[in-house]
Amino acid sequence: MPLYEYHCRPCQQRFELLRPISRSEEPATCPSGHPGAARAISTFVSFSKAADGSARAMSAGSACASCASGHCATCGIR
Ligand SMILES: [Zn+2]
Repeated sequence: MPLYEYHCRPCQQRFELLRPISRSEEPATCPSGHPGAARAISTFVSFSKAADGSARAMSAGSACASCASGHCATCGIR
């Protein structure tokens, strides 16, 4: 199951959630219990579309920035 990032307005925080692809666009409930969190556009997505074809997440706090796989769902480093 892929990992998606959501943004909770009451918390002003982002959180991650494992969900089926078919439910990725549905509002999520944050760890503090606020419903209706919208999906955040992750830095990884924009970097994965780089013209040179290299997909590497460079956002701060991403484990993928320091591992070779380039994708949190596969690198196993959290
Ligand atoms: Zn919240």
